[in-house]
Amino acid sequence: MLPLKLIYHDLYDLHLGSHVFPSQKYRLIHDRLLADGSAAPEDFLAPEPATDEDVLLVHTADYVRKLKKGTLSREEEAKLEVPYSKELIRAVWLAAGGSILAARRALADGWSANIGGGFHHACPDHGEGFCVIHDVAIAIRRMQADKAIERAIVVDTDVHQGNGTAEIFRGDSNVFTLSIHQERNYPHPKPPSTMDINLPDGTGDDDYLAILETHLHHAFNDFAPQLLFYVAGADPYREDQLGGLALSMNGLARRDAMVFDYARRHGVPTAIALAGGYARRVEDTVKIHATMILEARDAALRAAKGKPA
Ligand SMILES: [Zn+2]
Repeated sequence: MLPLKLIYHDLYDLHLGSHVFPSQKYRLIHDRLLADGSAAPEDFLAPEPATDEDVLLVHTADYVRKLKKGTLSREEEAKLEVPYSKELIRAVWLAAGGSILAARRALADGWSANIGGGFHHACPDHGEGFCVIHDVAIAIRRMQADKAIERAIVVDTDVHQGNGTAEIFRGDSNVFTLSIHQERNYPHPKPPSTMDINLPDGTGDDDYLAILETHLHHAFNDFAPQLLFYVAGADPYREDQLGGLALSMNGLARRDAMVFDYARRHGVPTAIALAGGYARRVEDTVKIHATMILEARDAALRAAKGKPA
């Protein structure tokens, strides 16, 4: 049995067909982990959908009403870049419930991963860039409202800057937001995170890992988080269709291991959400995410053994 619970629901899959956003990846990751023996059925927990009360901790009442009633304007719907449907709303409410459950399990067990979510472009009053509601922010706000935590850090390694995260937590000294991303890529403009690392096009493994390590060092030493939310984008991969960085599969695995190592050494409970991944071959995206889960497993096992740094 895995040392961390994996949060997953079959209805995360939106069946979008040939859309560049591969919503089937959630199911494919789940199936791959089971098929290769990395996980067993009992390692997975199915979330309940977030409640509207949860969602309203982050999003405006007006936006939530429009989503539920299907009354977004044509422009608002176009900005989402995924087709509006009842199934979409059901899936993103479930993904938000999944990130809430991942946060709860991380606080209880030390580690947990939502095999979904990471919708870091969603803002309080609108969605954009495949992101309808901000599951990670909703989970953090839920944990704070429940008095389970005060301070959280979001480490976002998706190739695109976490503009929704930056907007939602702007000026909030209890939530440290770190985003490492390609500078010349969506979104424009980029509202300031607590720490933004703007990378030039074509950045490869060694440069990426060196700069990430320096910033993780400062973030974890300057701020004593009670929860890490890792937004583990697969799209810094060199074969990504929407990214312009040049990380290898091995570099991405080393990136994940580095983030988990910081969390482990600082004793910070870690919840994970997936975010983007648009490799030319969907199986590459699936492999990157599945490898990330195995890195989390290894970190959790090391933490359980109490191995020194
Ligand atoms: Zn992305």
